Amino acid sequence: MILPGINLISIRHFSMLSIHAHTFGPYANCVYVMYSNVKKVAVVIDAASGSFDGLKKCLAGHDIHLFLTHGHWDHMCEAAKFQRELKAVVYAHKADQDWFATAEQRKYAPPGISFETISPNIWVEHGQVIQCGDLSIKVLYTPGHTPGQIALYMESLGSVFVGDTLFYRTVGRTDLPGGNFDQLKNSIRRILYILPPHTAVYPGHGEKTRIDAEQKHNPIVPLRENSL
Ligand SMILES: [Zn+2]
Ligand SMILES: [Zn+2]
Repeated sequence: MILPGINLISIRHFSMLSIHAHTFGPYANCVYVMYSNVKKVAVVIDAASGSFDGLKKCLAGHDIHLFLTHGHWDHMCEAAKFQRELKAVVYAHKADQDWFATAEQRKYAPPGISFETISPNIWVEHGQVIQCGDLSIKVLYTPGHTPGQIALYMESLGSVFVGDTLFYRTVGRTDLPGGNFDQLKNSIRRILYILPPHTAVYPGHGEKTRIDAEQKHNPIVPLRENSL
């Protein structure tokens, strides 16, 4: 039933933006998709194993902006497919260029994983704001898990996508090449923990959390040293 006087186009225009969370691959990577309300524009966070086949139908016909949180294979192994076949514009931080460009890290992936290197279209920097339709994305540079790890902050959604920096009640590993725990701790305290307390945190694996909850309850990096 169509109610008189209500314009369906304007209803669509004012509908709430939503975050579509998907899980793909042997490490249960979280891949997030958001659609702009004003244009056929989609934002995708990470390109895990299986994500291309899982998402290509939904994404077809959109201008796609694919953000890679960092260069580990489980987050970028299918980015080249999005770039080549769906003409996605791929964004990442240059400090992980070696991870993106060399096939060497295939050795970390289980056998049978489709893995391609990727040349991102755009290298991003801390503080850069990228407009994708009506979605505004601020890049936060958060090294530690890898040298080129970034977070993507979407103030309009009250949400931050943190890759493998911060998880529900834990933090990302720093024992892989290029990892640095002091850097990770600084990134969490100086970049993520200064976001508004109610900001939803969407990690690269596992369940979502909130900035204030991790400040209080994270056993590895609480808000202050010795605050537990
Ligand atoms: Zn990682
Ligand atoms: Zn990961």
